[in-house]
Amino acid sequence: MRILLIGGGHTHVVALRHLARKPQAGLDLHLVSPDSTTSYSGLLPGHVAGHWPRNALEIPLEPLCKAAGATFHIAKATHLDPSKREAIFSDGRQFGFDHASLDIGAIAAIDAPESLKARGVPVKPLGIFADRWMEFVADVRSQTRPPHVAIVGAGTAGIELALSMKYHLDNIAAVQSVCVSLLERSDCILPGASDSLRRQLARALAKAGIVIKTSASVTDATDDTLLLNSGETVPSRFTVLASGARPYPWLAETGLETHVGFIVVDETLRSVSHPAIFACGDTAHLGFAPKPKAGVYAVRQGPVLAEQIIRLIKGEALTTYRPQLDYLKLVSLGHRRALAEKWGLTLNLPGLWSLKRHIDLKFMEN
Ligand SMILES: Cc1cc2nc3c(=O)[nH]c(=O)nc-3n(C[C@H](O)[C@H](O)[C@H](O)COP(=O)(O)OP(=O)(O)OC[C@H]3O[C@@H](n4cnc5c(N)ncnc54)[C@H](O)[C@@H]3O)c2cc1C
Repeated sequence: MRILLIGGGHTHVVALRHLARKPQAGLDLHLVSPDSTTSYSGLLPGHVAGHWPRNALEIPLEPLCKAAGATFHIAKATHLDPSKREAIFSDGRQFGFDHASLDIGAIAAIDAPESLKARGVPVKPLGIFADRWMEFVADVRSQTRPPHVAIVGAGTAGIELALSMKYHLDNIAAVQSVCVSLLERSDCILPGASDSLRRQLARALAKAGIVIKTSASVTDATDDTLLLNSGETVPSRFTVLASGARPYPWLAETGLETHVGFIVVDETLRSVSHPAIFACGDTAHLGFAPKPKAGVYAVRQGPVLAEQIIRLIKGEALTTYRPQLDYLKLVSLGHRRALAEKWGLTLNLPGLWSLKRHIDLKFMEN
C-alpha cells in the first residue's frame, strides 16, 4: 500500500517515529517536504531569546524517513487530486498513492495594508522567521539597524516572541534605546485567554518594558515606522506578523471539504469528504471537536495517524482520536522563566522554565 505524507509537520514526525519502531510489511511510505529539516515551535522562543542555537530547533527529516523505511522527496506538494489519488510536486512530478496525509501547518494571517505585508516578517514558516531574526540581530550587533521591533498580534506566540526579543536585544552589549512594541487589534492582549493568564502576562510585559498598544491596527508601514489607526507612530526595523493562522490557499483547489480553508476531518483524522485523505495538525479542522491551532494537538495526533496506517495495511477498522479538553500551556518569559496555565489557573514558579525545557528537549530526543 502506497502512502504519501505531505509535509514534515509535528504529526508526521511523531508518526514516522512510531512507524520506525513498528516496521510494516507491505507499506510503501513516502514523505514530501520542501526542506530537509522541520522546526519545532516549542524551542523557538528560547532560540529567539538567544538561549540556544538555530540547529537546536531542527528535526532532520531524511534520517527519520530512513529509520521508518520511508522514501524522502525534497519538494513541495502544489496540488492534490483526492479523486484520482494523485499529488503534484513543485518539480512537476505526478505522484499516485492509495492514501495521503496532509500535515503542512498553516501560514501567518496577514490581514494588513500592502506596505505592512511587504515589510513584515510572518512568524510562519518558523525556519524562515528564525533566519530573518538572526539577520536582524547581526545587524543590531554591527549597529547597522537600530533595535526597534514591533510585533503585530498579542496572542500567546506574539507575547512570547516580544518577551524573548526584548531579552535578547537588552543583552547585546553597546546597544541602547531598545524598543519592543506589541500591537493588538482587540481591546486587550490575549483575547480569549483566561483572566489570570492575561493579568500575569501583562505584568511580565510591563516589567520587561514592552510598549503595549491595544485597539491598534497598522494603517501604513515604512522602512522604520508603523502608522496606527489612532494616528500614533511606532518605530520598527523588524516587524513580526503574528496575528493568527490561515490555511495554504492551494488547499481550496483540492475539492476537499474545508472550514475557513482548513480540511475538515472526522474522529479518524480522515477528510469527511474524501476518506482516502488524512489531515492533521494545523492543516486539519476537527469538525467533531474544534480546537485551537496548537502543536500539542498535532503531536498527540502522531501515534493515532501511525496506528491508522498500520490498520489500513492490516485491513482493520480505524481507531478514533479524542483530543484532550485542555492542555498545559507553558509560556516562556524571555529570561529563563515561564508561566503555566491550565483550566484557567495560572502559576508563576521558578521550576516551570526547566519543566518546559525538559518537555521540549525530550520531544527532540525521541
Ligand atoms: C512562536 C510560536 C510559538 C509556539 N509555541 C507553541 C507551544 O509552546 N505549544 C504549542 O502547542 N504550540 C505552539 N505554537 C503553535 C505550533 O507552532 C503549531 O500549532 C504547530 O507547529 C503545528 O504543527 P503542524 O504539524 O500543523 O505543522 P508545522 O509544524 O507547521 O509543519 C508543517 C510543515 O509542512 C511543510 N510544508 C508546508 N507546505 C508544504 C507543501 N506544500 N508540501 C510539503 N510540505 C509543506 C513546512 O515546511 C513544515 O515543515 C507556537 C507557534 C509559534 C508561531
